[in-house]
Amino acid sequence: AETPAAAPRMPAFDHVPLPYDGPSAAEIARKRAEYLSPSLFHFYSKPLNIVEGKRQYLYDEHGRRYLDAFAGIATVCCGHCHPDVVDAITAQARRLQHSTVLYLNHAIADFAEALASKLPGDLKVVFFTNSGTEANELAILMARLYTGSHDIISLRNSYHGNAAGTMGATAQKNWKFNVVQSGVHHAVNPDPYRGVFGSDAEKYARDVQEIIEFGTTGHVAGFISEAIQGVGGIVEVSPGYLPLAYEKVRKAGGLCIADEVQAGFARVGSHFWGFETHGVVPDIVTMAKVQGPGTSSSLGIGNGIPLGAVVTTPDIAQVLTRRCYFNTFGGNPLCTAGGLAVLKVLEKERLQENAFIVGSYLKDRLRGLQEKHEIIGDVRGTGFMLGVELVTDRQLKTPAKEEICNVMEHMKDMGVLVGKGGFYGNVFRITPPLCFSKEDADFFVEVMDIALSKL
Ligand code: PLP
Repeated sequence: AETPAAAPRMPAFDHVPLPYDGPSAAEIARKRAEYLSPSLFHFYSKPLNIVEGKRQYLYDEHGRRYLDAFAGIATVCCGHCHPDVVDAITAQARRLQHSTVLYLNHAIADFAEALASKLPGDLKVVFFTNSGTEANELAILMARLYTGSHDIISLRNSYHGNAAGTMGATAQKNWKFNVVQSGVHHAVNPDPYRGVFGSDAEKYARDVQEIIEFGTTGHVAGFISEAIQGVGGIVEVSPGYLPLAYEKVRKAGGLCIADEVQAGFARVGSHFWGFETHGVVPDIVTMAKVQGPGTSSSLGIGNGIPLGAVVTTPDIAQVLTRRCYFNTFGGNPLCTAGGLAVLKVLEKERLQENAFIVGSYLKDRLRGLQEKHEIIGDVRGTGFMLGVELVTDRQLKTPAKEEICNVMEHMKDMGVLVGKGGFYGNVFRITPPLCFSKEDADFFVEVMDIALSKL
């Protein structure tokens, strides 16, 4: 019989998990099957019962520690339950749990000011939401109102949310239902690995021009894109594409929307925002996932708490004064107090720099794995937004759909949690909390190496 390779030792971490006396995993699984919506139940064959989180680690009910290389879903940027974020939220909860735009409150205004200071140019008017979907719905609405056009251009393979407008902008059949999603045109994806034009930014941008000329009146509302497609499988938009696409859209009267829900907030390491890596300045920026404490999703402006935002110019923001528009929970002071604490932690602990240094190191090590394992077709991404695409044939790029599930399960057994996605579901999404260390990176690579060797 095959001798199983010994699991590598996880880096030391000074935290003792709290005792757990809650229900068992089996009991929760029973309730989940009976009372919770069955969508997305297939991620792991047997989901873990996660009862605690501390920075880049999660704990199950037995106190077993897991390295969280997915950060919720790229949401918990400064790590689970960061004490500064927990303190800020707790202090705010003691003072005032809820307020709305009807009254003044400094927790909301302070965070808006801090957020605006992170954005270039005239991008300084903030509208808070509870999620990325809501933020993108609002951005699309603003673009339509401002321009008087209905036509939005988005990229194939993108994910922008799951409400009526954003489901239209989302361009993957896996995430679409058969409901009315009018007025969105999907441009050829400038995907250097699988795209029809390779990395040729000019050819991809020509497709945007053709959509404007052949699919619209010549006048458009806007263009929405991620700088790195997250759900789409960590696809970096070809260098040079965004400036060209922005130019064509603006000539047609449209606004440019940067969806920074996954790539924003220091995750890409070299810059604070993903769009900055392309040298463009959008007209509207959307963000969320700034997840807060105690969640298991990826980076986010709230470090896991429900918090999203749209930031735009004073001129564009005026369109909302034409009617009444508000969001009951958007900009709740609990969330904005947490959001402000997240921004401070990012600076205090230089987490953007860490994302750049450790992210580059991790990418190099993953490239090393690619040399060893034929099944790794591509390693890509920037900072702590990295992708590893598995294929059964490097020439044909045949997606290794089953193999990736096996590797994921093996990695979980050895204590590492990682995401997966992409159109074919064959791409590892590595989006850890930004405090992920070099030792964590080494451990991650060792575990992935062993899991791949078991295939
Ligand atoms: N935009 C992007 C780029 C995303 O990745 C997501 C979610 O994963 C969304 C929008 C939607 O955000 P939410 O799930 O908070 O509605």
